[in-house]
Amino acid sequence: RTMDYGPAPEANAEILAWLAARPRFGHFIDGEHADPAEGGHFEVRNPATGALLAEVAQGSAADIDAAVAAAKAALAPWQALSGHARARYLYALARLLQKRERFFAVLETMDNGKPIRESRDIDIPLVVRHFYHHAGWAELIESEFPQHRPVGVCGQIVPWNFPLLMLAWKVAPALAAGNTVVLKPAEFTPLSALAFAELCREAGLPQGVVNIVTGDGRTGALLVEHPDVDKIAFTGSTEVGRLIRKATAGTGKKLGLELGGKSPFIVFDDADLDAAVEGVVDSIWFNQGQVCCAGSRLLVQEAVADRLIGKLKARMETLRVGDPLDKSTDVGAIVDTVQLERIRSLVEAGRAEGAVCHQLGAPLPKEGLYFPPTLVTGVGPASTLAQEEIFGPVLVAMTFRTQAEAIELANNSRYGLAASVWSENINVALDAAARLKAGVVWINAANLFDAAAGFGGYRESGFGREGGREGLADYLVPAADVTEAKPVRLRSVDFSAAP
Ligand code: NAD
Repeated sequence: RTMDYGPAPEANAEILAWLAARPRFGHFIDGEHADPAEGGHFEVRNPATGALLAEVAQGSAADIDAAVAAAKAALAPWQALSGHARARYLYALARLLQKRERFFAVLETMDNGKPIRESRDIDIPLVVRHFYHHAGWAELIESEFPQHRPVGVCGQIVPWNFPLLMLAWKVAPALAAGNTVVLKPAEFTPLSALAFAELCREAGLPQGVVNIVTGDGRTGALLVEHPDVDKIAFTGSTEVGRLIRKATAGTGKKLGLELGGKSPFIVFDDADLDAAVEGVVDSIWFNQGQVCCAGSRLLVQEAVADRLIGKLKARMETLRVGDPLDKSTDVGAIVDTVQLERIRSLVEAGRAEGAVCHQLGAPLPKEGLYFPPTLVTGVGPASTLAQEEIFGPVLVAMTFRTQAEAIELANNSRYGLAASVWSENINVALDAAARLKAGVVWINAANLFDAAAGFGGYRESGFGREGGREGLADYLVPAADVTEAKPVRLRSVDFSAAP
C-alpha cells in the first residue's frame, strides 16, 4: 500500500475515451452486446464528482431468460473441455486483466470512489491473482475432484464495494470447475464488469460461458427465481441474503451467501500499539469502511486504552480525504447518496443514544459524497453503533479487562465474518483466535486476502466459502457415479481458437 503511483492522467483519458464510445451499455448475453428487452437504462455516476459516467441497462425477465438460456446451452460444450483446456481461457483472462491493470484500476475508482492506491495495489492485483490461481485449479480439477461434476448454471450477484474483485471471486472458480455463469453486478458499480465482458470476447471465451446482466435488486431477484439456475452465489447484505434463502428454499438450488459483518479488532495490553494503529487504519478506513470484514469494533484492554485512543486520534488527523484519483488520498468517496445517508443516520442514532464522536478535523471536499473518518467512544456493547453494521468509516471503541471479557465482547454479535487480534505474545493471540466465532482471524494484521485461502462467515454473515479448495468445492457436486465424473472429450471440439 505504500507504492508511489502517479495520478495517471493518460489512463484517465483512456477511460474517458472508452466511456465516450459507450454512452449506453447493453447486457452481455451469449457473447454479444444485447440491448435491454424492456427495462430501459439507468445512470451511473462518479460519486466523487457527480459526473455522469454512462447509462446502463436495467435487466428484465426477458433479459434474464435469454442469459440463462445462453448459459444453459453453453454448459455441455464447456464441460466437455478438459480442465487443461478451460485453464487456457482462465490464463488468457488473467493475462489480459494484468495487461489492463491500470485501466481497470482507474475505471473502478471512478465508478466506486475508492482511492486509486487501493484499486491499483489491492483490488486489481487480487483480481489477477484470482484468475491465475483458478487457472491452476482448472488444470487439477480432474485429479483433485475425480468424483465430482460442475453444478451447472450459476447465478452470481455481487455488491458494489469491490466490484471487479467480487466478480473474480465468483467467476474464476465457477469457470474452473466447468460451470457457466450469469452475473449481475451491483447497480452503483457495473462498469468494470462490463469492461470484463469485453475481455471475455478478446480471450475467445466460448459464447454463453459468461453472461452479464445489469440492473438493480429486481433483476437480481429474477435471476434467483429462474428455474434453470442451479446455484446462486450472493455477496451483499444480510437482509437480501435472507430473502434469497427464502426464495431458494425447496428449489434444489445450491446456495452460497457472503453477507455482512461487525468484526472485532482486539488489542491486548502487550500489543505493539503503533502497529495496531496502522492495523486500525487498514481495517476501518480502507475503502471508506465499506468492507464486509472491516474491523469496525475496536476492543482494547483497559490498561492501554487511553494511549491507543490518543495515538489513533493523532493518526486520524493525518488521513487525507478527497479526490480518489489522487495518489495521495487515503479515504475516498462513499459509493452513493443512499449509502451516505445510511451512515449519517446511524451515526445520528448513536449520538442520540449518547455516543461521543470524534471526527477528522480537516474540511471535506465541497463536492462529492464524503463522510469523515470517525471514532466513536462512550457506547455500550448493546448500543446501536456497537451492533449494527455501518458500512462506513466509523470505528466504535470499547474496553475490556480480561481475555475472557474480550472474547465475550467479540462474540457478542449476530455476525461472525472476521476478527483481528493484536498481542506480542503468540500464545495469547492463538488462544484468543481459537475462541473467536469468525470465518477468518488475523493476528497482528488485518484485511489480508489471498485466492488460495477460503473466505466466508458464520451466523448471519452467511455460509459457504470463496477462495481456496473449499471455495472451489462449492462449485462442484458429487457425481451420481464415477463414470459421470470423467470428462467427456468430444473429438469435434476445436481447440485452435483457444488462446
Ligand atoms: P445489497 O444486498 O443491497 O446488494 C447486493 C447485490 O444484491 C446488488 O447487486 C443488488 O442489486 C442485489 N440485490 C438487491 N436486492 C436483491 C434481491 N431482492 N434479490 C436478489 N438480488 C438483490 O448489498 P449492498 O448494499 O450492495 O452491499 C453491502 C452489503 O454487502 C454489506 O452488508 C456487506 O457487509 C455485504 N458484503 C459482504 C461481503 C462478504 O464477503 N461477506 C462482501 C462484500 C459486501
